Amino acid sequence: MDGWRTAAACQEVDPDLFFPVGTGAPALAQEEKAKKVCRACPVREPCLREALDQPRPPSGVWGGLTEDERRSLVRRRRRRADHRS
Ligand code: SF4
Repeated sequence: MDGWRTAAACQEVDPDLFFPVGTGAPALAQEEKAKKVCRACPVREPCLREALDQPRPPSGVWGGLTEDERRSLVRRRRRRADHRS
């Protein structure tokens, strides 16, 4: 187990909270609850980094971002890197 996981704020929370199903209002409300836990998490950065480093993007909320939000972040970073080269 990675060292940072031992400090994860989500250890005390039902893991299902981080995997909302669907796109309706209940799923969005669940997503917001998960993000609230992440905002108070001391290991948000390494958690997000691990999600971004996976060859296949993991589902659910990691590091305070949904799968779609992480995809957008990767695209923005790639565009920024392309502009610099
Ligand atoms: S950032 Fe969120 S998902 Fe990641 S360890 Fe912290 S609480 Fe868990």
